[in-house]
Amino acid sequence: MSEQHVLVLNCGSSSLKFAVIDANNAQELLSGLAERLHNDDAVIKYKIAGSKHQNALTAKADHKVAIDTLVSLIREHKLADSLIAVGHRVVHGGEQFTGSQVITDDVIAAIMKTAQLAPLHNPANLTGIKAAQQAFPALTQVAVFDTAFHQSMPKHAYLYALPYALYKEQGVRRYGFHGTSHNYVSAKAVEVLGLANSHRIITAHLGNGCSVCAIKDGNSVDTSMGLTPLEGVVMGTRSGDIDPGLFDFLTVQLGYSSQEVSSMLNKDSGLLGISELSNDCRTIEEAHLEGNTQATLALDIFCYRLAKQIAAYLVPLSGLDVLVFTGGIGENSDIIRAKVLTHLSFLGWQLDPQKNTEARFGNMGVITTADSNIKAMVIPTNEEWMICQDAARLAKEL
Ligand code: AMP
Repeated sequence: MSEQHVLVLNCGSSSLKFAVIDANNAQELLSGLAERLHNDDAVIKYKIAGSKHQNALTAKADHKVAIDTLVSLIREHKLADSLIAVGHRVVHGGEQFTGSQVITDDVIAAIMKTAQLAPLHNPANLTGIKAAQQAFPALTQVAVFDTAFHQSMPKHAYLYALPYALYKEQGVRRYGFHGTSHNYVSAKAVEVLGLANSHRIITAHLGNGCSVCAIKDGNSVDTSMGLTPLEGVVMGTRSGDIDPGLFDFLTVQLGYSSQEVSSMLNKDSGLLGISELSNDCRTIEEAHLEGNTQATLALDIFCYRLAKQIAAYLVPLSGLDVLVFTGGIGENSDIIRAKVLTHLSFLGWQLDPQKNTEARFGNMGVITTADSNIKAMVIPTNEEWMICQDAARLAKEL
């Protein structure tokens, strides 16, 4: 079989994650991260042929500099000739995109228009697209949207109870995010467990950002993030759901500006806000085990609210076959998984402590006992592989 490699790019607001993946077998030939972009200490780290490297980028290097450096690396390691496509993670596809798209001028215009709904992410994604188009003008460029998987949500799940004109005229509705991850791990669960076409899955993507998704027969029917990634469960630094009346209290009574409220809800809340320690789950778990009561409280709130969100999705699904944990926390924190399953023990499942401990550090596995009718399991996510597959498929269809 001829070599078919895909360059996968994921531009965050100050980072660029990248990988060159073999579309025939999911092997990663090159992978890495450029981070602290726009800062004096911008850096690129990458892994190739099993060895790790790290190079400083020029001070204040931006996405274009990072991509140019990556392109030099690709050329230096003779990976350019086997590339068949570039796949871009794009955060917001609005209502227009229900699946991945070959990038055309019209698609770029639509991504620009949607940037109003994702001002930190879509412009960075567009920078990546433009730089990749310049570097590889002959290659098919494909956009894979975080929101696309959730476009199957019914209207009663995606609409807010706000004046309807806000939806009709401004697109104010729930969109949901992490779609590529929810799609990947739910499809993997179906494959691994041999589930029938008719199935009910809840996926909990728990990383720095956290979201839960209800999936019926392969389609997202509800998800916890909304117009923005701030809605839903407690996250590393984001609050998740709050009383909207808080906004008035903070601005009118306490004199916060709207930017200060937004910054507090997005950057200073969640696990960090409650623990007063860190947004990193590992740090919080260590402190909890050493008896730090704020750390314990942060974990308790995180798990209680997460369990409530999971229980809520029994409504759209009318039951449950399997709960899947993924993301850095979901894949590694046996403590959080055990707490969440305990909250939901009325579902009749039983945690297998040994399997729960073993399903860490990249290991996939069911963590409930064999006699549990409803299963819980851990599946490491692989958004890059999903993006690679979609990009390769669309490039071949052209
Ligand atoms: P992600 O955004 O998917 O990379 O996930 C980042 C989160 O995963 C951070 O909160 C990390 O603390 C958490 N995480 C990574 N490894 C572990 C671990 N071994 N135990 C608990 N949490 C972890």
